[in-house]
Amino acid sequence: MRALEDAHFSGATLRRPVTIVAAKGARLEDAEGKSYIDLAAAQGWANVGHSHPRVLAAIQEQAGLLVAHTESSYNDQRALWFSELTRALGATLGKSDRGDLTRVFPCSSGAEANEAGIKAARLFTGRSEMVALKRGFHGRTFGALSATANQKYREPFLPVVPGFVHVLPVEEEIEKAVTEETAGLIIEVVQGEGGVHCLPEEFLLFAQERCRKTGALLIVDEIQTGLGRTGRLFACEHSGVSPDLITLGKSLGGGIPMGALVWREELGTFKPGLHGSTFGGNPLACAASRAVLSVLQEEKLSERAARLGERIQSDLLSANLKAVREVRGLGLMIGVELRHRVTPVLKKLMDAGVWALPAGPTVLRLLPPLTILEEDLDTALLVVKEVLDG
Ligand code: PLP
Repeated sequence: MRALEDAHFSGATLRRPVTIVAAKGARLEDAEGKSYIDLAAAQGWANVGHSHPRVLAAIQEQAGLLVAHTESSYNDQRALWFSELTRALGATLGKSDRGDLTRVFPCSSGAEANEAGIKAARLFTGRSEMVALKRGFHGRTFGALSATANQKYREPFLPVVPGFVHVLPVEEEIEKAVTEETAGLIIEVVQGEGGVHCLPEEFLLFAQERCRKTGALLIVDEIQTGLGRTGRLFACEHSGVSPDLITLGKSLGGGIPMGALVWREELGTFKPGLHGSTFGGNPLACAASRAVLSVLQEEKLSERAARLGERIQSDLLSANLKAVREVRGLGLMIGVELRHRVTPVLKKLMDAGVWALPAGPTVLRLLPPLTILEEDLDTALLVVKEVLDG
């Protein structure tokens, strides 16, 4: 089987030599029957775990009715999803003097949501300049790639989209870069791929203020941080930052590909044909996402993420592990800065049945499903500590 896949593989993903055939909760199973504790939420998308029974039931039921039809017609699942998603955003981010987050462009991935965000910022302001942050990651399609700072991703594909600058997440740089010419400033509240760096609250509030002063739009990319991951439904809640546009993806569809751009009513709408996505807002993804939103709220998973995240951080810190320089993060989005490269650590963890992620060359990233069983977490943490103390 692996040879068959290798013969056609694009090469675009760094792949592990295992064949995953099944998953449930926070457990992955390979073709040889070996079980792995998933501390990666399968690249950060499985916030409610793999195959959550309520998400599975919603997918099964909707699949028997209508899988896909575009926004060129109305659909009950899409209407309810719009309403439930924007209600959740309104309830958590509160009212703003700049209007509520009520308009939604549905799509099929995080990068696509950011593409829509960049286009919307240019369209709604009539300006072209975009500001993004160093260490930021927003995806690999051309617009999203132009907002992504790391040269490693951009270099082979230059020129990227013109009009983007990248600045350090410090007030002086934002003050200089965000001007009356700026269409939008795009940020992650916790920079995930860039090494799990939490942006300070004062900086976030300063950036928001600078956007308001200049008329630039603040786009918050919550593709990785969103939906309970950081201990709140949306990471901007921690600082009270109130974005003009917010992008979502990863766990939004509970495993069914899905992304969304949500923005303030006052900004306007796209004219027909100016943007689009064949599978955006398809009823199957909307039904799955409705189940995800409901599970997150009913099972109080943000609170659980906050509690378990604190426990992991204090457990790792108090163990004084030889390989560890720093432990940081928010909720169940944790970065462990190592004194050496992370690749051999990931390999040892895999051998011991724990699946984790890197975030740059020396950071071990832990993003377990918010539903992970405490006994699985305990077992995984024992393994992590053993590997990091060896
Ligand atoms: N934005 C952030 C913060 C991400 O972490 C990612 C993916 O890792 C993306 C955007 C891109 O999402 P996708 O891979 O669904 O295109």
